[in-house]
Amino acid sequence: MFRLDVSTMVFLYIMSSLLVIFVLWIFFERTAIFPKFVREEADVWECAICCYTYVDSTHHEISQCPQCSSFNKKSPEDRFV
Ligand SMILES: [Zn+2]
Repeated sequence: MFRLDVSTMVFLYIMSSLLVIFVLWIFFERTAIFPKFVREEADVWECAICCYTYVDSTHHEISQCPQCSSFNKKSPEDRFV
């Protein structure tokens, strides 16, 4: 049997406890579902006058272009005009 002093035993006890906590932490966080940050397609606007693409999440029907200050209307038929 090999001999251990008190400081080595305390060190091994603390390190083994930290290792167990770390392994449990990784095991339980592996199944966690992280939120996805996806920009909605409705927030992306393309100006019909200057073709500037911008994001406006506060307006849903009519939005003002920050580049040329013209108003753009979003509807399915003139979406890609
Ligand atoms: Zn514009």
